Order: sequence, then structure tokens, then C-alpha cells
Amino acid sequence: MRSVSVLGATGSIGESAFDLLMRAGGPGAYRTVALTGAANVARLAQMAIALRAEIAVTALPEKLPELRAALAGSGIEAAAGPEAIAEAASRPADWTLSAIIGAAGLPPGVEVLKRGGTLALANKESLVAAGRLVMGLAQANRATILPVDSEHSAIFQSLQAENLECVEAVTITASGGAFRDWPLERLARATVAEASSHPNWAMGQRITIDSASMFNKALEVIETHEFFGIDVNRIRVLVHPQSIIHAMVSHRDGGSIAHLGAPDMRHAIGYALNWPQRQPLPVPALDLAALGSLTFFAPDEIRWPALRLARDVILAGGAAGAVLNAAKEQALDDFIAGRIGFMDMAPAVERALTDASREEGFGQSPADLATVLEWDGLARRLAASKAGAA
Ligand code: NAD
Ligand code: MG
Repeated sequence: MRSVSVLGATGSIGESAFDLLMRAGGPGAYRTVALTGAANVARLAQMAIALRAEIAVTALPEKLPELRAALAGSGIEAAAGPEAIAEAASRPADWTLSAIIGAAGLPPGVEVLKRGGTLALANKESLVAAGRLVMGLAQANRATILPVDSEHSAIFQSLQAENLECVEAVTITASGGAFRDWPLERLARATVAEASSHPNWAMGQRITIDSASMFNKALEVIETHEFFGIDVNRIRVLVHPQSIIHAMVSHRDGGSIAHLGAPDMRHAIGYALNWPQRQPLPVPALDLAALGSLTFFAPDEIRWPALRLARDVILAGGAAGAVLNAAKEQALDDFIAGRIGFMDMAPAVERALTDASREEGFGQSPADLATVLEWDGLARRLAASKAGAA
């Protein structure tokens, strides 16, 4: 029986993974090692009991008594805190999904790579903040990383049996998010509630807001560069409101292979779970006749400055990815808390990048986790809204 762990089990991606595992037969089909979560320990315990997990871990130490109580009598171990999540990730499992949101996903992902495991990676932030380190660890430990971001799963699938040298360009699509059709002057007043609703995908709140600002796509451009090793001038972003084509690989002979599917993350998660095989998945079949037409347009970089920042970061290399990722997380916190407006996020990130670039060592890729976390901390301080500061 294959063994699995899900880090960030209680989130949007984690719930989809849980759905797939339960449909496949739950504890009768997979042996679950670790499930992790944060505030929602009731749901975490429920999932751990349903899958008969070995251990359930919450990121929040103050939630441990509640988790223990919810697991009482089940025989499932309970633990709490970031170190306990990393320890759970280090336990052998054939397949580990990293579906934690933000830079917090990096340390446990590193543990999976260090034990030479198979890491299904939804946590794009770890590739943005520490791409060189993550890919290097995978190689050194013969670990496997399977992309779970829909666009990257689509590139991965489109690249099967293709030689990267023949690839002219890779295009990832973007729905355009909540504000695609809003007049520019209205964007500055966009509220958190307005930014938190996505036209096509049901996702966690943070990535939904990142879709509206295109910071999600900016992270994905960097993720494409880091994971596939494709240089920046061969990575394109195309706005595609229907989210049916997820990515497209174009070859030097003028042909392109695109990956199409309904906007349902269970496809990309299930593909990674069953890889290298394919199994039936509970994903709606594509009905192009019902859709009638697919539309596309080039992204406007005044509306979405995040895309320009992504290119700058790839060209700068070194610690720029760690800085962009953390500054973006800080700016997003400030927007959600009402300290800054929607259109203030990109300038805050750009300011942090400019200030950080004057620091010694900025041009060097962080060689270890501690260095990534130092840049992360600095970037958060540089990006933080002065409005909320004491
Ligand atoms: P989410 O906010 O719904 O869930 C995040 C999960 O991480 C939860 O289980 C939460 O408890 C846990 N978590 C939060 N803070 C934590 C911390 N400090 N330490 C440890 N665990 C913590 O997020 P999501 O939308 O499921 O996204 C998860 C990841 O997948 C992100 O990296 C996101 O970019 C990526 N992703 C998501 C989607 C999607 O459809 N939601 C699509 C592509 C990629
Ligand atoms: Mg994506």
C-alpha cells in the first residue's frame, strides 16, 4: 500500500486532495502518515480520523490541547508548531503533498527533499523564494518534485517526450482575476471582499487576491523559470478568461501543444498522485461545444505591474525571489488588514526589492534555509506599511 502525507491538509488544495484520497478508498487504499493544518484543528482531526493518519500536526502551539481532545481515543499522535510540522514531513512517505500557503511551506518541503521523497508541490512560494536551493536539494538527494500548480502541471504534461531544446516558448494563462474588466481608476478603491472572489477557480483567500493583482501569475512565471529552467524571455503570460487552456508549449517548428481542462484543481493534484500513471478523476469532462469560444488577450502591465516585477526578479537572480515573495506576503497582509489599498501592494513590493538590492549578498542565491529566512524577514520589514507601525 502506498503511503502519503498532506501538509496543509485543511486548506483549499488540501481539501481537494482529501476528497481524492477518500474517493480512492481512504484508509483502505492509502496509508496516511502525516496530516498538518493550522487554526482549524477540528477539521484536521476529522480528516486524520477518516484517513487513520499516524500523526496530525497544527502549526499553532496554542491549539494543541484542542487537537489532542479532538483525537482522544483514536490512537493518532498530536503535535504542534513549525518544528513538529518539519518533523512530520521528514517521516518516510511515498508521496507528500505540500499545500501549505506561503513561505511557511519551505522548511517542511526541504525535509521531504532531504529524505529523497516524492514532493507534489502546490506551494509555489518555496520555488519562488528558494528555487536554486530547492531544485539543488532535489537533485542531490534524488528526490522527485511533481508540480501541482495547474499551469505547471500543464507544462509538465505538455513536455512529456519533448526535448527542452526544441521549445521556443512556454505560455501560462491567467484568468485575469476579479478585476479583469474593472476600469483602472476604480482599482485603487477595490475592497478585500471584492478581491476575494474569483470568476473561475474556488481557492483560498490569499491566492484569490493574488489572482486579482496578478501576483499569483508573477509567482508562477518565476516558478516556471525555476522548475523548468526556462529563461525569462521564453516565458509568456496570456490572459484567458475561461481558464480552459492552462499552459502551452511552443516548439521551434511552429507547432504548439496546449493542455486543456476544466478549472478544477483535482486534476493537477490527481495527476501528481497517480503519476506516472493516469487514473479516472472526478473532474468534469471538457465540453468545448458547450463553451463555444475561448478568448485571449495580452496582459496590461499598468493594470498588473506584478508581471514586470516577476521579470525583474528573474533577471536579478540571487535573493530577489525570496525578497519578492516575502514582500508580497507582507503587502497582502497589509491590504487584508486595511492598512493599504489594492494598488499599493505592487509599489510596496517594488520598494522592498529596490532597498534590498543595496544589501550585501543580494546577488547570491541563498545557499541554505537560514539565509532564505533572513532575506524573508528583511523583505517583510522593508515592505511593511508605515501606517500600521508603532
Ligand atoms: P489555504 O489558505 O486554503 O490553505 C493553506 C493550508 O496551509 C491550510 O491547511 C492551513 O492550515 C495551512 N497553513 C496556513 N498557515 C500555515 C503556517 N504558517 N504553517 C503551516 N501551515 C499553515 O491555501 P490554498 O489556496 O489551498 O493554497 C495552498 C498552496 O497551494 C499555496 O502555495 C498556493 O499558492 C498553492 N495553489 C493553490 C491553488 C488553489 O486552487 N487553491 C492553486 C494552485 C496553487
Ligand atoms: Mg496556478
